[in-house]
Amino acid sequence: MSWQQRISEALSERRASASFRTRQANMLGNGRIFMANNREYLNFSSNDYLGLSQHPRIVEAWQKGAAEFGVGSGGSGHVTGYSRAHQAFEEQLAGWLGFERALLFISGYGANQAAISALAQKTDALIADRLCHASMIEAAMQSPAQLRRFHHNDVASLAAQLDKSHGGERLILTEGIFSMDGDGAPLADIAQASRQSGSWLMVDDAHGIGVIGDEGRGSCHQQNIRPEILVVTFGKAFGGSGAAVLCSEETANYLLQFARHLIYSTAMPPAQAVSLQAALKVVQQGSEYRERLAENIHHFRQGAMQLSLKLADSFSAIQPLIVGENQLSLDLAARLREKGFWLTAIRPPTVPPGSARLRITLTAAHTSDDIAALLEALYDAAG
Ligand SMILES: *Cc1c(COP(=O)(O)O)cnc(C)c1O
Repeated sequence: MSWQQRISEALSERRASASFRTRQANMLGNGRIFMANNREYLNFSSNDYLGLSQHPRIVEAWQKGAAEFGVGSGGSGHVTGYSRAHQAFEEQLAGWLGFERALLFISGYGANQAAISALAQKTDALIADRLCHASMIEAAMQSPAQLRRFHHNDVASLAAQLDKSHGGERLILTEGIFSMDGDGAPLADIAQASRQSGSWLMVDDAHGIGVIGDEGRGSCHQQNIRPEILVVTFGKAFGGSGAAVLCSEETANYLLQFARHLIYSTAMPPAQAVSLQAALKVVQQGSEYRERLAENIHHFRQGAMQLSLKLADSFSAIQPLIVGENQLSLDLAARLREKGFWLTAIRPPTVPPGSARLRITLTAAHTSDDIAALLEALYDAAG
């Protein structure tokens, strides 16, 4: 088969199964309003959970950072790209989350790949929740270590997989809040299983950091555990982008030697690190945002139950409405779009086959009228 044939067959297959993906250019920011094709929509698809992507103090911090440091870092952190802005933010994060060290990465995707690929060797086992994010699963599949998957949030299944793997070291992989289902992991029980088996635990808290727990310290802090590796990302509640790996001094020094995504990639712009410091302050003092978000979640779930919409077992900002068939999820998203609501249909392979869904995300920027309007539209469109 030629390259051309291979590409055109893959595209035909995607089209035939209603899983062809397209993008929509957004004409403004990704805040409460999503503007596309010169029309405004109420946005229920953004991960900007606290509404910080347009926060004036954070925007201003970026501008000041750019005025001071320029717009780019100019190199890998191992050469000359690591600035005192990066260093200060890493120290603030480590102190805030109670770890010895934090290392900044340009994305959560890269942080997960880097940590897993630097740690896992041939005789090791990576034991992952079945619903772990693509960035972890992909790194685990590419690693020479054995990959074992346990049933979602099922500690007994985790224990069974731990029993089956012997030889090298074991690293358990899970998330704080799962990105497509919105449910939280039983981290205290998982941490206990990890400790008892002499394994290490790595938690990706992309959707918990900033949103959950005291000062928004995230899922691990809330469940009173400290995994060996914690990954937090800044593209969601922090309203920016980038990520950090939190770990011990020794592990950080090891990653600085062996994490290829750090060594062979340009560091994030210092101005971004400056803006992330401002975002951290807003997050720490942001209980008002978290309370508003919690009210919106409560309002949405109450309303949805009254309308007999089938909710998932999620108490987070991610409230999936599982539809099943790909085409049904696309049709539902299209009907809502006509009514002025921007929601994204999420289809396999992002989610398991037969579980296409509308991934509704609520944020602190939504008003109670927005939630009421969404509920009404969902009732009409799904009914
Ligand atoms: C978004 C996300 C990532 C990727 O983070 P980026 O900074 O966007 O690359 C990793 N893990 C989870 C669970 C995510 O939801």
